[in-house]
Amino acid sequence: TLDLKDKICIITGAASGIGKAIAERYVAGGAKVAIADLKLAVAQATADELNAQGPGRAMAVEMNVTDEDQVNAGVKAVADKWGRIDVLVSNAGIQIVHPIEDFPFKDWKFLLSVHLDGGFLTSKAVIPYMKTQKSGSIIFMGSVHSKEASPLKSAYVTAKHGLLGLARVISKEGGKYGVRANVICPGFVKTPLVEKQIPEQAKDLGISEEEVVNDIMLGGTVDTEFTTVEDVAEVAYVFAAFPSNALTGQSLVVSHGWYMN
Ligand code: NAD
Repeated sequence: TLDLKDKICIITGAASGIGKAIAERYVAGGAKVAIADLKLAVAQATADELNAQGPGRAMAVEMNVTDEDQVNAGVKAVADKWGRIDVLVSNAGIQIVHPIEDFPFKDWKFLLSVHLDGGFLTSKAVIPYMKTQKSGSIIFMGSVHSKEASPLKSAYVTAKHGLLGLARVISKEGGKYGVRANVICPGFVKTPLVEKQIPEQAKDLGISEEEVVNDIMLGGTVDTEFTTVEDVAEVAYVFAAFPSNALTGQSLVVSHGWYMN
C-alpha cells in the first residue's frame, strides 16, 4: 500500500504551482511537509493554508536552493523540528527562453544553478539523514525536456537532462542504504512559470501564443490537454510512498502522451 502517514517531506518551490499541489497531496495522505521557497512570507502563507486543513502538518522554510548555507540551515530546521527526513522533492525551478546565439551567459548559469546546484545541494543535505534512517525518497522535478528538446530552451533542456544523471547516481550510491531517487517529467502544466513563458516564446518565434501551444502539444501527442498540477502530484505521491526499494533510478513522463518513452 502507498502510505505517507507522518512521513516528513521537504518540498522546494512549494509556494506555487506544482510544488504547492504536491504539498497538498502529501498532507492529504497524512504527511508533514516543509514548504521551502525563496521568500519566507510566501512559504508561510502556503504552510498556513495547509495547517488550516490539519494543524501541525506544515512548516515554512526560507530557502534559496542555490545557497548552500540556506539549504543546510533549512534542512536542519526541519530535522530538528520533526526528527527525520523521509522525502525530498527537489522541485524549485525557473524558465528562461532565448535562441542560443542571444542567450546571455549569466542567464544560462543562473538557470543551471537553480535546477542543478539546487538538486545537488538539497540532496547532499538530506542524504546523511536518509542513510542513517536506512530509508528515504528523493524526487526531482524533471520535464518532458529531460527527454526531448524545444527551441529556445537550451539551458532548461540541458538542466532537465542533467537531473536524470543526478538521480541515477544517487540511486547507485544510496541503494544499499534504502535511499531512492526518481524523476517526474511533466508535460505542459498551466502554472505561473508557463503563463509567463508562452508569450515570451511567441514573441521570440514570431508566432501567436496559440500556435506556440499547438506546435508543442500537437508535435506527436495523442491529446492536446494541459497536464494538471494534480496529475503531477499524484505521481509524486507514488514515488514518495512506494513501499520497497525496487522503484529507484527511474523517470516517468506525465504529459498526456505529448512525449512517449
Ligand atoms: P512556479 O513558477 O509556479 O513555481 C516555482 C516555485 O519555485 C516558485 O514558488 C518559486 O518561488 C520557486 N523558486 C524559484 N527559484 C527558486 C530558488 N532558487 N530557490 C527556491 N525556490 C525557488 O513553477 P512550476 O511550473 O510549478 O514549476 C515547478 C517545477 O516543475 C520546476 O522545476 C519546473 O521546471 C517544473 N516543470 C514545470 C512544467 C510546467 O509546464 N509548468 C513542466 C515540466 C516541469
